Amino acid sequence: MSDYNAPRSTGKKSGRQKSAAQKVLTANQGHKARKRFGQNFLHDGNIINKIVRAINPKEGQNLVEIGPGMGAITEPVLEATGALNVVEIDRDLIPRLRTQFFNYPNFKVYEGDALQYDFTQLVDTEAENPAPLRIIGNLPYNISTPLIFHLLSYTEQRLVQDMHFMLQKEVVERMASGENSKAFGRLSIMTQYQCQVIPVMEIGPEAFKPAPKVDSAIVRLIPHKTIKNPVKDINSLNKVCLAAFNQRRKTIRNSFKKLISAEQLTELGIDPGLRPENLALADFVMLANFVTDNPVDLENA
Ligand code: SAM
Repeated sequence: MSDYNAPRSTGKKSGRQKSAAQKVLTANQGHKARKRFGQNFLHDGNIINKIVRAINPKEGQNLVEIGPGMGAITEPVLEATGALNVVEIDRDLIPRLRTQFFNYPNFKVYEGDALQYDFTQLVDTEAENPAPLRIIGNLPYNISTPLIFHLLSYTEQRLVQDMHFMLQKEVVERMASGENSKAFGRLSIMTQYQCQVIPVMEIGPEAFKPAPKVDSAIVRLIPHKTIKNPVKDINSLNKVCLAAFNQRRKTIRNSFKKLISAEQLTELGIDPGLRPENLALADFVMLANFVTDNPVDLENA
């Protein structure tokens, strides 16, 4: 990934960092990683330190971690902030987490599915200057894309300061990719519409136990302060992306047939013979606004 600032981590451990990782491992022996929860636990203290440095957690900030697992990132973040909310689906891990961090009264565990979790409850919207969310997590790869879409809805509500995620490298590439690239798609558009996407570093499989079959990467997402070219309705942007990339090898003349005619595309200054990845984010915004203004009943179209 060319725009990464940092070189790929080698996974080598320094003495000081190794002990942090070992603490994590020692504390959690006996838990069998569950594939259905996408459990690949970080065990490399050097990598854990780099991730935490990238997050740069500070006291007084409103951090929430998705999938704390056995506490690999949780521990150093809690040490830095003294307060942390976590959302974990695996109920076997909950008592371990509570025991491990019993001496932090402001460590709060929410047992459940982050896809269903209402993150607005973590922001004190009554307060004069509510602390915005800093969302972090080594995300379960099997649900990472729907989870990102779920979290982007909180960005839209302006509740998020930033997000740092460990994802499959390929997912980070899709997020960061620009038009005219094979990786450009709905994830790129919906993420870049809301956020600046900054790939931070790549991480090899050896940093995890069990080791995943794919490379991973950390990405930083910073919500735009203002969206220069806002859509009238974010749902229309999603609808247009779904139609465009459902069959990405088709020309947009075909893929938009039910939403926008070839003539209408031409009137908007868009060549109907293009493929969806040839359109820029601004084109998708224009098409979304067209669809908002000219709604089509897809059920009966
Ligand atoms: N943070 C730990 C680490 O880095 O070692 C664990 C990361 S592991 C890749 C993903 C974690 O997310 C696991 O703890 C898993 O149980 C949890 N998880 C999976 N699906 C979840 C969901 N839908 N909601 C909340 N947590 C989930």
